[in-house]
Amino acid sequence: MSLGIDWVTEWIRESARVISDNRVELITLDREIGDGDHGENLDRGFSAVIQKLADLPGDAVPGDALKLVATTLISTVGGASGPLVGTAYLKAAGAVGKAETLDGAAIVALLTAARDGVVLRGKAEVGDKTMIDAWTPAVDAAAQALADGADEAGILAAAADAAEQGAKSTEPLVARKGRASYLGERAIGHRDPGSQSSALILRAASDAAVEVGSDARSANSAPADSAPADGASGTSGAS
Ligand code: ADP
Ligand code: MG
Repeated sequence: MSLGIDWVTEWIRESARVISDNRVELITLDREIGDGDHGENLDRGFSAVIQKLADLPGDAVPGDALKLVATTLISTVGGASGPLVGTAYLKAAGAVGKAETLDGAAIVALLTAARDGVVLRGKAEVGDKTMIDAWTPAVDAAAQALADGADEAGILAAAADAAEQGAKSTEPLVARKGRASYLGERAIGHRDPGSQSSALILRAASDAAVEVGSDARSANSAPADSAPADGASGTSGAS
């Protein structure tokens, strides 16, 4: 089973949901080692994305949806994270191009390009206590899962698990990039908010794959009289 536009749109919707549900936690994390706006920034951005999702044409491909997320986040999310996360989606869109469906290798390419976009913008390395501490282990785990023969859902689950571990791994670190770097040792003991939001977004990608996978399975087992594939004109015997 490869993943298409329905996966990407579900990923976006699920991301908006989890960012909204965890808005206060992200604000609290950013208050501890930053300025407290991270949850607000991302929630505003993803709410705007959800508004714009309705404008996607019916024949949109995964890359179109990823590009819409990119441009919306770049224009609506302030702070460091707007351009960083926006660039991640922009590079992800570039990596998948015009493909209608994404197999495991394309999913790994998408995640790798997203991470590389963050690095291009922010120049952070693993251990700097940033969102890269979630993204890079996620990309590595996704590539390993692909090599081990996992399917798309398995690859995304591996990425999500590694991102969660990566977010946790930021707790004992001193920050070397972003606002938290001004705190020196006082950042120790606090989780980086951007790594936490990245882990949430990657979990959303994995959950969305499970969701569309189970939809596809129930559609396959649906009776033969389910909706016709060509719902375009709606009339028979057109002139
Ligand atoms: P700001 O720091 O401008 O208030 P946010 O609070 O929205 O922006 O985002 C803060 C998050 O951005 C941090 O938790 C960190 O994960 C991420 N971040 C900051 N600088 C960088 C960087 N150079 N590279 C990667 N991520 C970064
Ligand atoms: Mg902030």
